[in-house]
Amino acid sequence: MTVLLQIGRRPPDVPVQATSPLPAGPGAQVRAFRSAHGAHLFVADGSRLYDLPEATAVRLEEWLSASEGSLDELGRTLDLPLWGAPRIDGTPLAPPPLSSISLNVMQACNLSCGHCYADEGRFGGSARAMPRATAYAAVDRLLAEAAPGSDVVVGFMGGEPLLARDLVHEVVRYAVRAGATTGHRVRFAITTNLTTVRPDDAALFAEHPFTVTVSLDGDRTGHDALRRAPGGASAYDRLRAGLDTLARHGRPRHLSARVSVTPYTGRLLDILEHGIALGFDEVGFGAVVSAPDPAYEITTEAFAGFLEQMTACGERALAELSAGRAYPFGNFQTAMEQLHRGAHRPYPCGAGAGYLSASAEGGLYACHRLVDDPAFAMGSLAAGPDTATRQRHLAERHVDRQEPCRSCWARYLCGGGCYHEVSRRGRPGCDYIRGWLSFCLRAYVELGQAAPEFFEQRSAAAPLTSSASTV
Ligand code: SF4
Ligand code: SF4
Repeated sequence: MTVLLQIGRRPPDVPVQATSPLPAGPGAQVRAFRSAHGAHLFVADGSRLYDLPEATAVRLEEWLSASEGSLDELGRTLDLPLWGAPRIDGTPLAPPPLSSISLNVMQACNLSCGHCYADEGRFGGSARAMPRATAYAAVDRLLAEAAPGSDVVVGFMGGEPLLARDLVHEVVRYAVRAGATTGHRVRFAITTNLTTVRPDDAALFAEHPFTVTVSLDGDRTGHDALRRAPGGASAYDRLRAGLDTLARHGRPRHLSARVSVTPYTGRLLDILEHGIALGFDEVGFGAVVSAPDPAYEITTEAFAGFLEQMTACGERALAELSAGRAYPFGNFQTAMEQLHRGAHRPYPCGAGAGYLSASAEGGLYACHRLVDDPAFAMGSLAAGPDTATRQRHLAERHVDRQEPCRSCWARYLCGGGCYHEVSRRGRPGCDYIRGWLSFCLRAYVELGQAAPEFFEQRSAAAPLTSSASTV
């Protein structure tokens, strides 16, 4: 009789044929952890979660610290049913049909921010705008490469994409028409500093299925310290005016705030509550790992403080959600949903797989942050995505084929780290990632006990995108 009771929703049980060995060492496969409700077991393959009797948890931990044995051996020793065909092995994903493309419509920005990965939109090159013909060609290419009848996403990136507002409006109209012809439902996403949004932009965002992500770095003082507007104006005041414009002329279906965390960023819990008070549907944090000016990067040591602050935000979210109150902390909600779904995958995101980004010149790259990087060039709009290059990208970056990821218990939740950050800085944040996921595992069990309805409401209200990451 099994001593284990699986908790959470079970991932699809689709056994795969193992063609390469799973990483050695049970420490890479399982992890014991505790919550207010006792001891639990996390199995990396399939992101499976089980309740575990305390005595078994102690034996498991002793065994993990002393043994180099296999997972099968662990299962036999502790009488745990941890066998079965692996759900993930080292087989790389074949390049799937495209499901989203981002257009770098304006590789220039009206603000000047030292922590901007895009070097104020220029990506290390000169400022430039995307020609209309190139933007239309990107939409055509997406529809031609997408699975028949599928939903697709067109994203607008920069720099500041609203500096090319006429083009954004034209592309939306064009994509809706073209999608209706090819039988694809087109959704849209835009990342903006919101300082130049106008009533007609707001109406466009409200009329079509738009996700609008706004860069927010704190309250007025904190935001303006990091985001410099020309002539000493307040970028924060302009952002607030932009929020008023959205409120008066059309609110997008989803309005989120994204905080880029630097060594100069204020207390995260204060910023989170500020963003929630401003009415965003979701507020999320991302550490600045790679910036044109290294002074803005979070160092390996600073990740410890980042973890502490993220955990404080997570504890607040756990308390509020457990009491049945909404608390839209994006990183936490995404992690809860991913754990509930049993999400497990060998890549950090869809870059180079179902997602590509088009440069102003019509080049295709793995993602918006990798535009103009020859190491991540993936074809062109004219010739189409380069299948061989995408295949090689997916083969080389499978998390089980990378060190040190292949021996990390968090690898199928993390996916091995953002390609942009890893290519620039390596992996300085692994302890943070594992620490955050350890917290999230505990929080998941406790939230599931306190407010199981959270998971039902979320899956009905906000289906996840395939590119959402747990970390
Ligand atoms: S990037 Fe770090 S945390 Fe993520 S899988 Fe690799 S080793 Fe683990
Ligand atoms: S996680 Fe990194 S590589 Fe993936 S889409 Fe985002 S920026 Fe690009």
